[in-house]
Amino acid sequence: MSDAHPPVPIIETTKLGPLYTIPMILHCPECTTRHIDEGDFAIKPHHTHACQDCGLVWRPAKVNTHGVQFLPGYKNDDD
Ligand SMILES: [Zn+2]
Ligand SMILES: [Zn+2]
Repeated sequence: MSDAHPPVPIIETTKLGPLYTIPMILHCPECTTRHIDEGDFAIKPHHTHACQDCGLVWRPAKVNTHGVQFLPGYKNDDD
């Protein structure tokens, strides 16, 4: 038992192709403005995001991320 290792999180590193992007609820770390990727950015994977309000450029994660209004499968459905 003494050589038991604590659980190690498995960090996904294998699907990081140029078109792989993770949908996220993104907020600007400077001014907290919501960042949603629309238009050209909605179809172009990118890892750095520019705040439309204050202009801060930040990188939420090492991989491509995508600012969305709702996470897939998490949208509240009141109908
Ligand atoms: Zn963006
Ligand atoms: Zn901002």
